[in-house]
Amino acid sequence: MGRRRTFIFDGLGVSAGVAIGSAYVFEAHGAETEEQQVAADEIDDEIAVFHQALEMARKEVLDLGRAVAERLDQQQAAIFDAHVAMLGDPLIVERTVSRIRETHRNAEYVLWAIAKDIGDQLSALGDVYFSERTHDLYDVARRVIKFIRQIKNPGLSQIPPGSIIVANDLGPSETAALRRDEIAAFCTNAGGATSHTAIMAKALGIPAVVGLDFITHYVRTNDMLIIDGYEGTVILNPSAEQISYYREQAERHAAQQHELAGQSRLPAVTTDGTRISLEANIEFDLELAAVDRAGADGIGLYRTEYLFIQRDTLPTEAEQEAAYRTVFTAMGDRPVVVRTLDVGGDKLSETIRTPTEANPFLGLRAIRLCLAYPDLFRSQLRPLLRAAAGRELDVLIPMVSSPDEIVATRGFISEVKEQLQEAGESLPKRIRVGAMVEIPSAAIEAGTLAKYVDFFSIGTNDLTQYTLAVDRVNKMVSHLYHETHPAVLRLIHGVVVAAREMKIPVSVCGEMAGNPSLALLLVGLGVRSLSMSPSQIGIVRRSIRESSREALEKLAHSVLTCHSSGEVRDALSRHLADRAQA
Ligand code: PEP
Ligand code: MG
Repeated sequence: MGRRRTFIFDGLGVSAGVAIGSAYVFEAHGAETEEQQVAADEIDDEIAVFHQALEMARKEVLDLGRAVAERLDQQQAAIFDAHVAMLGDPLIVERTVSRIRETHRNAEYVLWAIAKDIGDQLSALGDVYFSERTHDLYDVARRVIKFIRQIKNPGLSQIPPGSIIVANDLGPSETAALRRDEIAAFCTNAGGATSHTAIMAKALGIPAVVGLDFITHYVRTNDMLIIDGYEGTVILNPSAEQISYYREQAERHAAQQHELAGQSRLPAVTTDGTRISLEANIEFDLELAAVDRAGADGIGLYRTEYLFIQRDTLPTEAEQEAAYRTVFTAMGDRPVVVRTLDVGGDKLSETIRTPTEANPFLGLRAIRLCLAYPDLFRSQLRPLLRAAAGRELDVLIPMVSSPDEIVATRGFISEVKEQLQEAGESLPKRIRVGAMVEIPSAAIEAGTLAKYVDFFSIGTNDLTQYTLAVDRVNKMVSHLYHETHPAVLRLIHGVVVAAREMKIPVSVCGEMAGNPSLALLLVGLGVRSLSMSPSQIGIVRRSIRESSREALEKLAHSVLTCHSSGEVRDALSRHLADRAQA
């Protein structure tokens, strides 16, 4: 058979790197009871999976029955007895087993077909009682099918090492489950440049392209793919020339990384002597080695919510304390800014169950959620203060929209502090409380907010989303998402000026800070501290070391008069071209 046709797709490159390898098409929920042939030597395994799924379903129904009996009454719970009986009914179980053997078809397909046959017969009796039993029967069959699929498709962790994942979408928690050494890259139909999935990919050093619309319609598992996370290109069935070109690209980038790593101990200082602090954004302690390699001046953003997602139970206080302590110990005297739980929006936790919301990014997210669930908040603050005993602690509050949230948070911190003190435990040497400025109201009112906090950190990912009313994870509007929009730049500038007047430090920790061109704009606007994915520190350091503060201030001054983000980007390109020629 000849080589299959080559297709080139353009998307958003959200995590740098090139990968060449075979595709693994990941279906989060599997196809609807799709009919599949089972090879003769796999029939016994198929039947074993069916029995295992029956047992798992039985256990779940018994648990459900018990829970309902406790909360409601025995009569309501009786329905589950009927379900348990169906799970052992030979009419269903034995028939399914023998039909798998006879027809060589997959268990979920056979089970559903049998359930439908019985259901049709019951419905045909025209009796209300029997037609209700049909619903029970379907419910039981669906439960078993759910477990069959879970056994057959246990999730991303089982994918062959070196695969390139192709998916409709990956949530931040699914991305967090990917391990750098096992997965070569991923690409998705959905996704935006500053989605938490993209941030996660960078943290794990996995090249990624998102926003490809229909890539899952074209690619099949085992197809050959090239992923270019720099340019946002994906090539399906590449030619030999394309493969060798991208191999060279990968080598070139590896050489550049090596060169940047050699400069990791140099300070980020402009040619006219202004020192910029370059800090790291981290999600897990796994990234501490990369932070060290990058020569970060500290951790400017520790996204603690990743301790809470991708798991079945809430982390215990002891587990949290150990995680926070690992980070503090690794960083020694260097500052660590710990952000309190920012769950909600696109970061959902299985363990913190909140009602479904029509607009999650405008809903119960971040500090709003913590204030709504005080015990959850205390259960994070307690281990955090314990872990920081004897050192300075910077606590950052996400999604602040007014001073009330700061006052309330300070109240919780004081309460926990007193509790620990009464118990004779040691405390942090000093606690500073900062606000994320990522909602327009906070940026506009920065002068007032500054009276309530010790520092600001500007979250440009959300600030852009909320200022422009552009969902940061929605592919359909990603062309409208620009951190360089004059409104966003003016808000950032206003916050920097307010912080300077009120004599509090301000840093930027959105993705913008890790972009080597946009970081220059921020320095020109007066920002002296930038926090970013460790993978970006080297390239941003080099960009700053090649620039003069004076020229950047001039650039910033000029972009503040621009009318559109297009004009801003043009001004920035001209500046970079002039710099290259100088
Ligand atoms: C931001 O919004 O810019 C930010 C840094 O926080 P997150 O990306 O976690 O929302
Ligand atoms: Mg944010």
